[in-house]
Amino acid sequence: MQKISIIVPCYNEEEVIELFNEEIHNKVIEKIKNEFEYEVLFIDDGSKDKTLSKLKEMKKKDENIRIISFSRNFGKESAMYAGLENCQGDLVVIMDADLQHPPEKILEMIEGIKEGFDVVTTVRKDRKGESKIRNLLSRQFYRIMHGSSKVEVKQGAQDFRMMKRQVVDAILELKEYNRFSKGIFSWVGFDTKYIEVTNHERAAGKSKWNFFSLFRYAKEGIISFSTMPLKISIIAGLIISAIAIILGIQVLIQTLYQGQDVPGYASTIISVLFIGGVQLISIGILSEYIAKMYMEIKNRPKYIIKDKID
Ligand code: UDP
Ligand code: MG
Repeated sequence: MQKISIIVPCYNEEEVIELFNEEIHNKVIEKIKNEFEYEVLFIDDGSKDKTLSKLKEMKKKDENIRIISFSRNFGKESAMYAGLENCQGDLVVIMDADLQHPPEKILEMIEGIKEGFDVVTTVRKDRKGESKIRNLLSRQFYRIMHGSSKVEVKQGAQDFRMMKRQVVDAILELKEYNRFSKGIFSWVGFDTKYIEVTNHERAAGKSKWNFFSLFRYAKEGIISFSTMPLKISIIAGLIISAIAIILGIQVLIQTLYQGQDVPGYASTIISVLFIGGVQLISIGILSEYIAKMYMEIKNRPKYIIKDKID
């Protein structure tokens, strides 16, 4: 019998975690338990509320629940990595605890795997319940991501997906510290089936994202998967040098034919500031990459487990 692992990163999800467990049992496990063994692997990402104690209660009633608890909050990426490293399934599902990922889709995913796909992943059909500006920015993000790197992250792609063991092993081979899973999932390749899901509101509790963290996330994604920004400074440099040469020739000709002009204060100050600005931006971009290298070179663990209940 094949085993399905369901990996659920949880951070401060006390309000929804029991409901999640109920739903996953009623809508999925009841329907597949004759065909598959299963485990539900909850990763408590250093929750500060009662998430962990509620998980332990749930574990008492269902021995197929496993819990890994981090020593602090390491972030969802680390939680997913820990889940992938510690799961035992032949088929592995990653999903959120807040029921934004409809559990019944897992049945559809199993069908996809049976059709011969290695991965079945979900994409959002719409972005209901999200602000226009967030919507616009995230579309731009996918465009930049696609334009600047070879990996194609599908518009609206989510972390909610099912993978065969082989794919999980491939993902675990990518040991980078700065993990941008959307990119990693697409980077490893394999035959992928996309299924659409409608956007659901969170069942309870609140999202851990705000505008700035999303912005940072987008920046991380681009830096992790593309060296394009580094090339921007070369292009900017070339354009500015070209302008300087043209202006220089113009000034030379003017001086030769019309005599010396009184140099303009405004144009001097503007060009100095402009060049200064461009240089600082370039150094800034460079620093982002150096900072990433610094963190990678330290080679720290991606998470620390405080408690593991199998
Ligand atoms: N999560 C986590 N660690 C964090 C933040 C979030 O494990 O530091 C989990 C969270 O419990 C949820 C999932 O990641 O199961 C998605 O989080 P959230 O709903 O806040 O993100 P959104 O759905 O708004 O993208
Ligand atoms: Mg959510």
